Amino acid sequence: DGLVVAIAGPPNVGKSTLMNQLARREVAIVSPHAGTTRDVIEVQLDLEGYPVTVIDTAGIRETDDPVEQEGVRRARARAADADLVLWLTDASGVVREGEGEAAAPVWLVRNKIDLDTTDRPLAESSSGRVFRISATRGDGLSVLIAAMVEFA
Ligand code: GDP
Ligand code: MG
Repeated sequence: DGLVVAIAGPPNVGKSTLMNQLARREVAIVSPHAGTTRDVIEVQLDLEGYPVTVIDTAGIRETDDPVEQEGVRRARARAADADLVLWLTDASGVVREGEGEAAAPVWLVRNKIDLDTTDRPLAESSSGRVFRISATRGDGLSVLIAAMVEFA
């Protein structure tokens, strides 16, 4: 029920950290090691009164590990039928990869801005929506959440 939002993007950009911030509880394992999230984790939240299902996906990347491949396959499938995709990137930024795979609008979310002190220009997003956040510090989250609520 409600809005289905998939958090997608390469490994280690902070997808699970964002999920936990949105859920305000520890539902996903956050780790500095790429490939930690293998299954697709879903959490139901109430975002300012709107029911939202947030899906934390395994990092989408090429891999030889069969378990991780299955995680990537499920992540792609789930992102494909979400209402909204938050495509995370970090300051080091793979940006466009994966965009266009989803039928839903893809919002580009640039995470870890606390590490990015330069004023590099923001990447373009096919949907035209770009957000800058620090999932660990919480910077930019209220703007992102407000946009999600407006979209819902
Ligand atoms: P995922 O693989 O995309 O799910 O990434 P994780 O959420 O597991 O985070 C990967 C690493 O990045 C962890 O060490 C996090 O603590 C760190 N991280 C996540 N968000 C931020 C952020 O906004 N700033 C900084 N400095 N580190 C972050
Ligand atoms: Mg993760």
